[in-house]
Amino acid sequence: MTPGDTPPIVTVEGLVQIYSIEGQDVAALSGVILTVQRGEIVALVGPSGAGKSTLLNVLAGLMSPSAGRVRLAGHELSAKNAAVLDRARGSDFAVLLQDVTRNLLPYLSVRQNVELGWPKSVRAGIDIDGILDIVDIAPDLRPQPVRAISGAARQLTAIAATLATNPSVLLADEPTSSLAGAEVRAVTDAILRANRELGTTVIAVTHDLDVATALDARIITIRDGRIRMDARAGNTLVSIREDGSLPLPDDVLGQFPAGTQVTVRPGEDADTFVVRRAGGDDHR
Ligand code: ADP
Repeated sequence: MTPGDTPPIVTVEGLVQIYSIEGQDVAALSGVILTVQRGEIVALVGPSGAGKSTLLNVLAGLMSPSAGRVRLAGHELSAKNAAVLDRARGSDFAVLLQDVTRNLLPYLSVRQNVELGWPKSVRAGIDIDGILDIVDIAPDLRPQPVRAISGAARQLTAIAATLATNPSVLLADEPTSSLAGAEVRAVTDAILRANRELGTTVIAVTHDLDVATALDARIITIRDGRIRMDARAGNTLVSIREDGSLPLPDDVLGQFPAGTQVTVRPGEDADTFVVRRAGGDDHR
């Protein structure tokens, strides 16, 4: 599924999240602006401590933002009370927690875990085996208790259980972090098939750029609580900040290191401006 002309499924404006530690305020998010279109796969990447998990937790409604606005799958998150949010989280959007055991009941079978999320209303066109086929769990594993299956199969079961609630958006925190090699590939393939066959929008935190690439994702790089880069299919988008500064993509920063003096002037048309190294050539 490709992003269409419909309104964004996720809109984040001016998001700020401040933690207080021993009387000191730490800004984990400092004015995040983000829109995600229906059907996109977005990878949130960046160094440890950048604010990725905080952003995912705020998007999931697991944490109220200090300031800003979050709209996700038709819900204005900051305006919801906990009960409404819990219902929305179980249907319009789903959260795959990093610790896979928290997503599942280990003594129930794979199939029973997926049945738990099945909506009361009949879903057209797909049944539980259809969901298990999408994540590619072999039929002989389906009656097995979750505690008896491999880590990768557990993660696939957790993905199937979240898909069973028919979410528009799947929020996943490091979905491959405890896996390696072919197991990682099994999980990225399952997420890709969910996106393509069910139209599920996916926002996944990952520290692994190979995972982002395998998901053919729009890659959003977060650093110091801000979106630093937004890259899709070879194009990198950066946003001019409120103070007028512009976070340069790494390749440009390699060419124009911090401290380089440049002149800036409007270009020949409304879509261009010209940056020139003091005494150097134009860069548009
Ligand atoms: P990432 O997921 O990119 O590693 P986090 O969102 O976990 O980043 O953290 C962003 C910043 O917020 C870090 O400086 C971290 O120390 C701080 N932080 C995260 N969670 C808490 C918390 N519960 N209490 C206080 N500070 C926190």
